[in-house]
Amino acid sequence: MKKGTVIMIKKDYLIKAVDENQQVRLILASTAGVVQEAHQRHHTSATASAALGRVLTAALMMGSDLKGDKDVLTIRVDGGGPAGVIIATVDSHGHGRALISHPQADLPSTETGKLDVGGLVGRDGFIEVIKDLGLKQPFVGKVPLVSGEIGEDVANYFLQSEQIPSLVSLGVLVSTDLSIKSAGGLFIQAMPGAEDELLEKLENRVLSLGPISSLLDKSSSLEEVMEKIMQDIPYRLVGEQEVQFKCNCSHERLAKILAGLSSEELQDIEESTGKLEVCCNFCNEVYHFTREEIEALKKRKP
Ligand SMILES: [Zn+2]
Repeated sequence: MKKGTVIMIKKDYLIKAVDENQQVRLILASTAGVVQEAHQRHHTSATASAALGRVLTAALMMGSDLKGDKDVLTIRVDGGGPAGVIIATVDSHGHGRALISHPQADLPSTETGKLDVGGLVGRDGFIEVIKDLGLKQPFVGKVPLVSGEIGEDVANYFLQSEQIPSLVSLGVLVSTDLSIKSAGGLFIQAMPGAEDELLEKLENRVLSLGPISSLLDKSSSLEEVMEKIMQDIPYRLVGEQEVQFKCNCSHERLAKILAGLSSEELQDIEESTGKLEVCCNFCNEVYHFTREEIEALKKRKP
């Protein structure tokens, strides 16, 4: 390799693998572009980018198991910390969007020089996973937060709520200019009958490879990272999905929300702000409306 060549994973995607004996399944994701867009749209601080990015990455990885065309998965984290609530919503097509109550909130790095995600998120609360699979009721799993670092919390969710022993590693590497250098995640999940020996081997290997964000930063593809993790363990790749930041808001969708308000409420909004506009909380797009447009929409309703 030429000196000074930058190694990087150029697209946002995830891959899935299963070992030959079907004892473990792995999901590996690279989401630097997705997290960069979340950072730009929400103007997040370094630590808030990491917190938001980890939740959104976990949601995209979990969402890759959704089967139905219209299935939606949401992760909601509320730990009582300065970040407030973090919500990420994804569909089965690899599209994700996310919000954080206080994007500007930040904390000094920890003694080991790491972004203090646990401190920003807080530990006094819950992580909730809501799967809307088009059934009468969505599936909701809610477990207490362990550390607020998100990775451990997602692992605890898998164990407590879905009875799947899992190793979860999520990471976001933020540059000094606040841009996202790398981001991604790794899930290793034990399948029924998995041998402890194999799980321990993988756990030790992942630990020795260092933080997932650094590992991704030093690699040119997820397939290469998978090789580093599996080494002598025979496995096959069983899936791949591109992921992107994509909101499902639209002019019509937000117009309908306004049309649901009374004429007095609309007038109040117009008088206090001088205009009729709505900002999508998930992507920060601002939509403008005229009073006539909304009133006409109201009249169309039965
Ligand atoms: Zn939106």
